[in-house]
Amino acid sequence: MSDCLFCKIVAGEIPSNKVYEDDLCYAFYDIDPQAPVHFLVIPKEHIQSVSAVNKENSRVVSHIFEVIAKLADELNLKSYRVVSNIGEQAGQSVFHMHFHVLSGRDMTWPPG
Ligand code: AMP
Ligand code: ZN
Repeated sequence: MSDCLFCKIVAGEIPSNKVYEDDLCYAFYDIDPQAPVHFLVIPKEHIQSVSAVNKENSRVVSHIFEVIAKLADELNLKSYRVVSNIGEQAGQSVFHMHFHVLSGRDMTWPPG
């Protein structure tokens, strides 16, 4: 999608601090970290949010969760939170599906 910030990051048109990349997904550190460790994992394909996941595109979601488990292991994250905001009221500001991975501080529940 030409006007999407995260599509531009995947294409290398906007710089990012890469954590991991393969043919299906891209992981990079959040520009405004909310925890000592805060990175995003996104599909390379443009999917607007979790609400747009369907039979045709869902394979990348399980793949992303495998990647999150692998990265958490490699980065030695003992406890972490995975968050995906869907829609403006929930806090989504970039409409290309992404999973936040946050770690390294105490976290509250329920979230604000
Ligand atoms: P959300 O608000 O859930 O849609 O998450 C979007 C996230 O993208 C926010 O945590 C932003 O800090 C992050 N973000 C926005 N622009 C960039 C960028 N250029 N590089 C890295 N992270 C970004
Ligand atoms: Zn996109």
